[in-house]
Amino acid sequence: MNEEQQPETRAIRGQLPATQYREHSAPLFLTSSFTFPSAESMAETFAGNEEGIIYSRYNNPSVDELIAKACALENMEAGFATASGMSAVFASMAALVEQGDHILATRAVFGSTHQILTQILPKWGVTFTYVEPDQPEAWAEAVRPETRLFVTETPSNPGLQLVDLSEAGRFCRTHGLTFIVDNCFATPYLQRPADFGADLVTHSATKWMDGQGRVLGGLLLGSAEIMEKVTFFCRHTGPAISPFNAWVISKSLETLHIRMEAHCRSALALAGWLGEQRGIDRVHYPYLPSHPQYALATRQMSAGGGIVTFELTGGEAAARRLLDSVQMCTRSSNLGDTRTILTHPATTTHSKLSREERAAVGITDGLVRMSVGLEAVRDIQADLLRGL
Ligand SMILES: *Cc1c(COP(=O)(O)O)cnc(C)c1O
Repeated sequence: MNEEQQPETRAIRGQLPATQYREHSAPLFLTSSFTFPSAESMAETFAGNEEGIIYSRYNNPSVDELIAKACALENMEAGFATASGMSAVFASMAALVEQGDHILATRAVFGSTHQILTQILPKWGVTFTYVEPDQPEAWAEAVRPETRLFVTETPSNPGLQLVDLSEAGRFCRTHGLTFIVDNCFATPYLQRPADFGADLVTHSATKWMDGQGRVLGGLLLGSAEIMEKVTFFCRHTGPAISPFNAWVISKSLETLHIRMEAHCRSALALAGWLGEQRGIDRVHYPYLPSHPQYALATRQMSAGGGIVTFELTGGEAAARRLLDSVQMCTRSSNLGDTRTILTHPATTTHSKLSREERAAVGITDGLVRMSVGLEAVRDIQADLLRGL
């Protein structure tokens, strides 16, 4: 990989070296295992004295290509690719804690991340405390001698609350905490947590990275030191990504920058337009001046992202009516697709939370989450107008 090139160039040109067939596009290495020229070479490779690929649970050329490109984009030293975003999130915590350890997390985390913190890690004696994403001055009160990790997500799903990454970086350095960021919503194109001191970044590559709603995938990217522990955990617990999915996502990274530019442009246009429509109380989008953290958004993100949320005056009934009226936009829980997707979080992705828990992360009954696709903005507007 040419370190002097821009990240987007490295995401295109950082592909595997060509085989003897001199193919132009890197091939898919759909193989579970690899062979050795001799018993001696096999022994040396297993001992780590000889470079070589052993088995696809450990590594695989198609997977390695994805990791190298993602490291270039996130400015990280090493990585591991997993079967889904959640296996990456789980490994980011499970690999780094021991019984009795404590985790600080910002309250607005992804639903399954919340389940890991509240239902799964406590089984092994790992506890957690939620802190408010927008109140960094209060975070220190929650730190205990056994606190090890600071886990955060910005912008959050679906509340679009932001965490000040430079404050978080300072906070983690002061208290000696490992700083972990789920960078799924922003993608490295909009923000690079490593530039703010993040030690480990996780991704659901299922979302904007694939960008076309085809495959699941996850990424763990970090310093060489942290990734040594994370890689050990992953190699032996087996959340490895399929080489096929890695190959698909690696190709998708070649267009991430132009796709994100288009998603963000359309999302900003639609956010402004939605604010002028009747029947909508509030529109949330980090790059709208009405967003409470607009100044922070423009400071730490290069654009507002592809997710817009809005609250309908008519509450849940109006939200359901909108979802039932559209003919082009799709009802789905996924996000980060070429196709515009509408979700009603209160009755789907966040229905397991109590109304109070939902309110604490900004999910009202009338809230609709829109993942803005790449269709013409006027077609999205015409479709939304059927139900507004
Ligand atoms: C979707 C999502 C995940 C989980 O990713 P999967 O690929 O579905 O396992 C984690 N974090 C965020 C912010 C997400 O949006």
